[in-house]
Parts: sequence; C-alpha cells; structure tokens
Amino acid sequence: MKVVFLGPPGAGKGTQAQRMAKRFAVSHASTGDIFRRAMAQGLRLGLEVADYLDNGKLVPDELTSRVVAEMVIESVEDYILDGYPRTIQQARDLERMLLERGEALDGVLFFDIPEDAIIERLTGRRICAQCGANYHIVFMPPAKSGICDRCGGELRVRSDSSEQAIGKRLAEYREKTLPLVEFYDQKNLLRRVDATAEPDEVTRRTEILLRDVLMSRQTGT
Ligand code: AMP
Repeated sequence: MKVVFLGPPGAGKGTQAQRMAKRFAVSHASTGDIFRRAMAQGLRLGLEVADYLDNGKLVPDELTSRVVAEMVIESVEDYILDGYPRTIQQARDLERMLLERGEALDGVLFFDIPEDAIIERLTGRRICAQCGANYHIVFMPPAKSGICDRCGGELRVRSDSSEQAIGKRLAEYREKTLPLVEFYDQKNLLRRVDATAEPDEVTRRTEILLRDVLMSRQTGT
C-alpha cells in the first residue's frame, strides 16, 4: 500500500494515519514526526529545520523530498505518507521518485474540514516532552491532566500551536497545499473524508475508503 493522507493541519489525519498504519500493518511516515524527532535528538537535520517548524513555515521542498526519499521511498515497501507532499513541487518529486522505481501511488485521502474547526483543534494540542506522544485537551485528553499516559512525561503545548504560528500554517496550507486537491483529483486518485465527524467515526470511514483503494488496485479498476 502506498497512500497519501492530505489535509489541513488539525484535520486529524495524523491520528487516522497512526490508526490505519496499525490496522493495515504498514508504516506511518509522517514528515512532521521525522523533523520533530530529529530536533529532539539534536541531529543536523533537526538544526536545519527547527526555525521553519517553530514559525509554522514549510521546510524547503528539496530538503523535505530528500528526507522522504531516504527514509521512506527507498527503505519501506508499504506506507501511509502523512504530511507529504505539501506542495505541487513535492508532489512532482514524489511522482518522479516512484516512477524511477516502477511504482505508483494507490490513492490519496483528503481530510476535509472548515477552518474554524481547525483553529479550535490546534490550540488544544499537547505533546509529550519525553516520548513525543500527541494529545488534545478536548478530543484526546490524557488520563491525568498534563501527564503522558504512555511514559509519565510532562505534556507541553507544541511550539507550532501558538495562535500566531497557526495563522501562518493555515496561510501556507491555503496557498501551497490546497492546490494538491485539484492535482490529485485530475489524476483520479483523490477520495474525500469528512473530517468534522468524531475521531472513531472518521476512522470507520477511512478504513472503508482504504479497503476500497486496495480493492481497486487488485482489480485494476
Ligand atoms: P505536521 O506535524 O505534519 O503538522 O508538520 C509540522 C511542521 O513540519 C510543519 O508546520 C512544517 O514546518 C514541517 N513539515 C512537515 N511536513 C512538511 C512537508 N511535507 N514540507 C515542508 N514542511 C513540512
């Protein structure tokens, strides 16, 4: 399975990608997670991308595509790409990388949600300072406020979840990522998921769509 999860920040695509990766036993390849992990580990990549992430700006296409090529396309067979591609240039890079290997995308799921719902979601995001697990104070709260269920670490507001950074991320999304909906629709790869429903319902619908994507691949329809 080679699929892309597309959508604005805060659409819940990361949570769904995590769940689907488990259900279909494929890799969850999140560029945001890769960058944050590199920052937390003090790697050179982390230093290169920190300013962009802290300011809600996109990391340059060339660097992002290089990281995806090395860590995903060339090293994993089945994956859900979460947060990549985010620009038309990245989508072209991805197409070329796959083509060179005689591969192709099976489908693109677009998690559709209006902006006011996004803002409510993003300001409530928390992340564990120790292990990186994600929470939300309303939609996915930890058992004990401020404490990670998984490792007992301290939960913090993500550095890119201030109102100012959110505004910038949404503007970047509108300008650079939204055109991908049209791009993939024209290639007949796009399927829409209504991401305003509650998480378990979105999971149910996402799973149905993914099964459908796999079926069409097998039957070639
Ligand atoms: P995410 O966790 O997907 O919201 O990503 C967090 C941040 O990582 C984004 O705001 C960008 O700064 C950076 N990032 C993640 N994926 C990409 C990408 N495909 N292209 C450029 N920047 C990215």
